[in-house]
Amino acid sequence: MLPPAVLEEFVALLGPERARSDADTLALYAQDETPGRCLPEAVLFPTCHADVVAIVRLALRHKLPITPRGAGSGNVGGAQPTKGSLVLSFECMNRILEFNPADRLIVVEPGVVTDDIHRLAQSANLMYAPDPGSSPYCRIGGNLAMNAAGPRAVKYGVTRDHVLGLRAVAGDGRELRSGGRTSKYATGYDLTRLLVGSEGTLALITEATLKLVPAPERTASFRICYASDTTACAAVSRVMQQAVVPCALEFMDRRSIQAIKEFGAAEGLPPGTEAVLMVEADGPAEDIPRQVAALENALQGEGLLEIQTGFTPAEIKQLWTARKSLSHAVKKIAPLKINEDVVVPVSRLSELVAAIDAMGTLHRLPIVSFGHAGNGNLHVNLMVHPDDAEEMARAYACLQELVETVLRLDGTLSGEHGIGNKKRKFVPLEIDAETLGLMRELKRVFDPQGILNPGKKLPD
Ligand SMILES: Cc1cc2nc3c(=O)[nH]c(=O)nc-3n(C[C@H](O)[C@H](O)[C@H](O)COP(=O)(O)OP(=O)(O)OC[C@H]3O[C@@H](n4cnc5c(N)ncnc54)[C@H](O)[C@@H]3O)c2cc1C
Repeated sequence: MLPPAVLEEFVALLGPERARSDADTLALYAQDETPGRCLPEAVLFPTCHADVVAIVRLALRHKLPITPRGAGSGNVGGAQPTKGSLVLSFECMNRILEFNPADRLIVVEPGVVTDDIHRLAQSANLMYAPDPGSSPYCRIGGNLAMNAAGPRAVKYGVTRDHVLGLRAVAGDGRELRSGGRTSKYATGYDLTRLLVGSEGTLALITEATLKLVPAPERTASFRICYASDTTACAAVSRVMQQAVVPCALEFMDRRSIQAIKEFGAAEGLPPGTEAVLMVEADGPAEDIPRQVAALENALQGEGLLEIQTGFTPAEIKQLWTARKSLSHAVKKIAPLKINEDVVVPVSRLSELVAAIDAMGTLHRLPIVSFGHAGNGNLHVNLMVHPDDAEEMARAYACLQELVETVLRLDGTLSGEHGIGNKKRKFVPLEIDAETLGLMRELKRVFDPQGILNPGKKLPD
């Protein structure tokens, strides 16, 4: 319980509207998109960098942990408060500080909603490339902390590849700037790349200078239906081996298609469809026909049932209907999804998909897998009933097997959702003890008292 005198210090710093401990506010910030909740002691709403510095220094003085928060859309519990913590919500630090098309950059505070950056860039025929599915509401600080990605990552890379510089406050209250405003930068250590993806455990990001790229002139979309998971995965390999890199290469497995059919959204899929790829090409208008021809050629092969191509926004929207219905369709299978975000090298994707199919049979669980196949990144959803203890035990055994399989295939635990408090226990299976020791020392350098987002990212 936070002593009233300590709360008063935060109120004196930020004002009563921005340092809150009423029951409704605490309840609202007790969880993120991940199952599980814990009431914080207070919720703080800084409006500028100086506020964040002052909050960290005050929290240090009272040894209070801080849980940073963007929009709370993360699905590994990264923004879930830990016991006794203060939630620091960046939602009021939502100003675009500079938009500079000449230098192809934008400077933002962490609370800016990602789609606002997309819209502004688009107004000058530019593009901020990272496109997480949550972009209508997630905030750029959360994207930076998680190194978020999305379908376009296969061509354009992840958040980390689009950050020129950062301003931040370390866990010991020190202020730091990393990187700059130029597309080349080789001075000092690259703290930008370290902080991006550090899940709020090293420093609080208060400003980011983001790189913009020219917006593509035209887009073409394909929906490709295959007779099996194996033949669809083979097509993914063929696409990624040729010269034209698609700007999206998404996969839906047999169980996804089954869920879409049961949901009544499979209209237009030819009979016998067991797996679907969604592919997109983008670029200058005159280059689109060349890209379409190359991609169609690579998509041909065993098990192909149909290729549908769309060029206009209406055609493209229609092709994506089944994919967009998937998250609703999945909810019909069971009340809870244990959502994994594993990655393997693209050439091993078909082995992973086959192994997941076998795990579903062995552990008697519906497992729905889909995701960013061009990066080898699959969202593997174990569908469960949380009140059924026996089923949950089978699900956890299955999860362990999934992680071991992914690592055996030279893959990694997480492609874009991060580790949070949900996947920490698996980290030592992937990262050896000496490397983990070095990471813990880094954490101590930035945050010697361990007040920044404790219980996240690294195992105890
Ligand atoms: C429907 C849906 C679709 C999604 N699709 C994608 C997708 O396609 N790709 C993808 O990568 N993710 C996706 N996600 C996951 C999630 O949206 C992303 O991880 C996103 O980056 C989180 O942003 P947020 O603002 O909600 O951050 P939060 O969930 O609030 O926080 C995420 C982490 O960042 C830390 N943090 C927040 N702000 C700061 C800051 N300023 N400084 C330091 N640390 C900070 C938090 O402590 C936490 O650890 C999806 C989630 C949902 C619900």
